[in-house]
Amino acid sequence: MALPSALRRRVPVFPPPPPVTTQVTLPEDGRAANFTRIPTTDKVAFVTIDDGWEKDPRALQLLRAANVPVTLFLEVDAVKGDPKYFTALQSAGATIENHTISHPILTGLGYDAQKRQICGGADRLASYYGRRPTLFRPPGGNFNATTLRAVHDCGMLASFTWMESADKGKFRFQPPQKVVAPGDIILMHFRPAFVDDFLVVLNAIHKAGLTPARLEDYVPGAAATPAAG
Ligand SMILES: [Zn+2]
Repeated sequence: MALPSALRRRVPVFPPPPPVTTQVTLPEDGRAANFTRIPTTDKVAFVTIDDGWEKDPRALQLLRAANVPVTLFLEVDAVKGDPKYFTALQSAGATIENHTISHPILTGLGYDAQKRQICGGADRLASYYGRRPTLFRPPGGNFNATTLRAVHDCGMLASFTWMESADKGKFRFQPPQKVVAPGDIILMHFRPAFVDDFLVVLNAIHKAGLTPARLEDYVPGAAATPAAG
């Protein structure tokens, strides 16, 4: 199935991502760090897509047409009914990472319950997709010191929140920011407006003179899945 030409025209053309000049520094004190952006001057930004409830068939066509790396932070409950939908996205260059089993607000849970959500999410996604996630996104962006300990203890290398987001076809900056800056992490979801959200994200990155890069390439030890397939 080809992408309709009206949509294809809205997909910006990017140069390949530049060589990675800086990776994040990971703490070695038994806790993971959380990053809202990657501290780099490389002309890159990072597209992250969360949860997995809405499974628009055009997502695969769009991802192929755009030919950009994306990171999917998947919630097990949202994907378990149709995990293969995301296998196709994985083969088109998406890397699948961890967003818990059932998306609770983690700050309301103790260490053991947080660990069940985070380790369990990684294990289940590994069984679906053949690679155990190495990165984590806390549901709602809510985390505390206990979360960062559990993230570490579950074998995740780092936690990520975001600088900008897109929803219902609208791009949202965190004031006072008015343009996507190098290293920014952008959040969107598998929601009914997936197509418009993905296109506004790509166009905001393009307008800023940046190119989408693979988040995993900026984290030491976060082996990325091979692109294409
Ligand atoms: Zn979420």
